[in-house]
Amino acid sequence: MSFRSRSSSKLFGGRFTSDEVWRQSLPSDARCGGCGSAKVAMRIRTFVPVDWLLKERPQLAIQIAAKHEGKLPCVEFTHGRHVRVGDAFACDFCKRELEKQAAKAPNYVTVQIDRGPGEDKPIIQVPAGVH
Ligand SMILES: [Zn+2]
Repeated sequence: MSFRSRSSSKLFGGRFTSDEVWRQSLPSDARCGGCGSAKVAMRIRTFVPVDWLLKERPQLAIQIAAKHEGKLPCVEFTHGRHVRVGDAFACDFCKRELEKQAAKAPNYVTVQIDRGPGEDKPIIQVPAGVH
């Protein structure tokens, strides 16, 4: 009886484009916020300071915590502890509109725009047997 998996090294030992790896890192239910397309080309995450959220929007803090098993999804930035309040996606057609909306965010909001890998799509070699 062997516990070695026959297929795992083959599954992960191949070549992936960085674009594929990026897409796999997105939630499986990610959809464009504009048109609902599953062909997501950009991710925009928005964060507010923990202190601001608890002081100014305690109800929102409770709502967010309820969705995350009672805990606030905190991220440590160089400018302090923040809570993720938004996670939006856009397809190629809608991303400019979403970027425009993100640019209008109030100044206490930190916006992270993730456009995925560049146009040249470098190949990432995944070593065989890594999983
Ligand atoms: Zn779209």
